[in-house]
Amino acid sequence: ITVAALRETVAGERRVAITPEMAKKLGGKGLRVLLERGAGASAGFPDELYANTDFAAAGEVLAQADLLACVLPPADAVFAQLREGVVVVGQLRPYGAPARIAALAARRLTAFALELLPRTTRAQAMDVLSSQAAVAGYRAMLIAAEACPKFFPMLTTAAGTIRPSKVLVIGAGVAGLQAIATARRLGAQTEGYDVRPETREQVESLGAKFLDLGVSAAGSGGYARELSAEERAAQQQALAEHLKAFDVVVSTAAVPGRPAPKILSAAMVAGMKPGALIVDLAAESGGNCELTRPGERVEQGGVSILGPLNLPAGAPLHASEMYARNVVNFAELLLKDGALQPDFDDELVAKSCLVRAGEVLFRG
Ligand code: NAD
Repeated sequence: ITVAALRETVAGERRVAITPEMAKKLGGKGLRVLLERGAGASAGFPDELYANTDFAAAGEVLAQADLLACVLPPADAVFAQLREGVVVVGQLRPYGAPARIAALAARRLTAFALELLPRTTRAQAMDVLSSQAAVAGYRAMLIAAEACPKFFPMLTTAAGTIRPSKVLVIGAGVAGLQAIATARRLGAQTEGYDVRPETREQVESLGAKFLDLGVSAAGSGGYARELSAEERAAQQQALAEHLKAFDVVVSTAAVPGRPAPKILSAAMVAGMKPGALIVDLAAESGGNCELTRPGERVEQGGVSILGPLNLPAGAPLHASEMYARNVVNFAELLLKDGALQPDFDDELVAKSCLVRAGEVLFRG
């Protein structure tokens, strides 16, 4: 079995789906690893670091792959260069991508979108949403600290005492909790907010304060559900008042398969302190703030709104290490007696499968 990966082609992407450590692990299981030349270079893994790995040009890699691992989906035309029946594993961004799914099916491939894995205990070792969200949360807070006109920590100096910045993190999932932990390490006075009631304890366990706005919206599978119009109005009214106190807001709220909930209106931003800053981690799926422009920095009435994209790509070495480990753990699930034999009675296999030997299973 040949496990293959290409150099990622999405602009700004620096991660790689197979690291030297994971190549070694796959080799130890009797699998052959085949990479496009330079595949890991931008993540900090030049070809020399890979032992027992073959390198070739992209076309050759695609012609020989049995399992193709990717970080982000390659161009749809790439799938036609794989042999029929090949297995594709990665973040395949299945929502709103009918052309990609059609291309996978047309080549009679079997494709697994790792972002569709159920968030169960057994899936944790393969959970790319979690591993990459942790990187995103960490980086979002560093970007906030860098862009903030204030210090985060309290400083007592001969030139006076500097009070710590006040930071609010909206959405206390994996990214939000890592953002909170990072803000705390930098010494900011930190609060966290979420609509899932169980997040209170998680926020408090990081030494941050939970901001209670009295709106609770737990959904299924550990995710939040979308708020009703009334709940949203109540949330916004309560939040608007609190926002005036914060120097930095990092927002991470998301509902799977839906556009990001709009939580911060233009009027709420207008009520914030001059010099305040919003880092909208949800920019990729439309943003939690009405004023967010994906990939840009917007200035509005003295408040800056940043909408950074693909944050995990900015810490590519550790992000790749975690991602590749997730991929290999998932690949192990597909292997039986040295062959690729996915067991579709296993819910991790069944629920993450977009296309099975050309048949589209995704109903997103
Ligand atoms: P996510 O990226 O889908 O959403 C981020 C956060 O935004 C969530 O905490 C959500 O509750 C919150 N949110 C949604 N709408 C909101 C709104 N209107 N206002 C405020 N906050 C809002 O979430 P995630 O980080 O992927 O994690 C989702 C859940 O999955 C969590 O319960 C997490 O603990 C769980 N999880 C379980 C496992 C596991 O056991 N394998 C692994 C990872 C995550």
